[in-house]
Amino acid sequence: MKRVLICEDEDNIRNFVLIYLKRAGYDVVDVNSGELALQKFEEENGNFDIVVLDVMLPGIDGFTVCKRLREKSPTLGIIMLSAKTQEMDKVNALMLGADDYMTKPFATSELVARIDRLYQRVCMSSASNEQSFVIESGPFILNMKSRTVLKNGVPIDLTQVEYQILEYFMSNKNTALDRASILNHIWGENYYGDYKIVDVNIRRIRLKIEDEPSSPKYIMTIWGFGYKWEDHV
Ligand code: CA
Repeated sequence: MKRVLICEDEDNIRNFVLIYLKRAGYDVVDVNSGELALQKFEEENGNFDIVVLDVMLPGIDGFTVCKRLREKSPTLGIIMLSAKTQEMDKVNALMLGADDYMTKPFATSELVARIDRLYQRVCMSSASNEQSFVIESGPFILNMKSRTVLKNGVPIDLTQVEYQILEYFMSNKNTALDRASILNHIWGENYYGDYKIVDVNIRRIRLKIEDEPSSPKYIMTIWGFGYKWEDHV
């Protein structure tokens, strides 16, 4: 059963999302505060695939909840909602481990489409394929079956989105990939977000994989175009 936890204090929005998601076949639990979201997550032993999380909440804010949930589960899908339009919010959310971000007002159908997509990714992480598939590059070993990446034999803690970006890069070694391709490949053709989400994720991945994130040698920036995975043999 695909399960979603919605944390939103505005009743109208929460109820709308609830109705749409139930109609789309999700099992939905809804709460109206961050404290309750964390409590529910604990009570149900983290048995959720996706959390839809509002930023502005009456008690602890959505960013804090996002950070705590991400600490509990690296594979949970997290989508944040915010009425604010400041770029900083988006960057904050993604740096704290959210997978996606929507600015209010949004079309509920668009949110459901993104949840569907995120759910597919979350599922891929637990689905076991018949044959394992491994890509090696420099100190890295990427395993498509377990969806893990090792650096010098040590597992790197990655979210599903980060893993997927790395898989895309490492499957296209030494190839310049433009931001639009990365966006389409990871978030889907109908994603209306901007390229910022790509850049922020790259920044986060670099912190995790590069020896010196400020002067990267694996994920190279191609100015005015995109990024390239540099294969160090
Ligand atoms: Ca709110």
